Amino acid sequence: MSEPTNLPVDPEPIREILKNHQQQIRLGLRMCAHCGLCADSCFLYRANDRAPEYMPSYKFLNSIGVLFKKKGKVGKPAVEEMGALVFENCVLCTRCYCPFGIDIPALITLGRRACRSQGVFRAYDK
Ligand code: SF4
Ligand code: SF4
Repeated sequence: MSEPTNLPVDPEPIREILKNHQQQIRLGLRMCAHCGLCADSCFLYRANDRAPEYMPSYKFLNSIGVLFKKKGKVGKPAVEEMGALVFENCVLCTRCYCPFGIDIPALITLGRRACRSQGVFRAYDK
């Protein structure tokens, strides 16, 4: 991950992402039944002792989902936690499957975009 910074969160870019994708995010949050049926379709979930933070639904609910509910009003530590979730716990392989039709990878991608807008991203040069 990128090095932690003490810069405050700039809510504007996050709000822009939320505004431009509000229907998709709202629908995903409304439709998710927390049934856990998507879990086993994620190889990272299976490879990490089925830890909840690797569940596909957990990753979008606790990144873009939280940002949506809080209208982007979160602190930098929260964004850094979300960054770890969407960059470290997901490789965006798009193999996860929701029987209700929620496009989980698309929502995780929005979580990544929101984190990236705050300088939180995966550092590839380690
Ligand atoms: S994303 Fe779909 S499969 Fe996963 S918990 Fe939500 S409703 Fe169930
Ligand atoms: S896109 Fe992410 S959550 Fe979905 S199966 Fe791949 S690693 Fe798992």
